[in-house]
Amino acid sequence: MRELGMAVQENHVLTKVVCNCCGKEIPLVGEGIWEEYFHGEKSWGYYSEQDGRNDSFDLCQDCYHKLIDGFKVKLL
Ligand SMILES: [Zn+2]
Repeated sequence: MRELGMAVQENHVLTKVVCNCCGKEIPLVGEGIWEEYFHGEKSWGYYSEQDGRNDSFDLCQDCYHKLIDGFKVKLL
């Protein structure tokens, strides 16, 4: 989950990133730079059961590794 704040001239600025799986806040490692995390987005199409839905989520590195460790077909 990415939290957006308003900045000067009403541009959206990323202010906070939280892991959707465990709820941990992704730590900042520098000004406007977060520790590495996974961000996924999907716009579902007509031939799905959720046509028109847009999903996005973020995972911390621990949760990302737990997810991919469960894959039957391992990443290369
Ligand atoms: Zn997590």
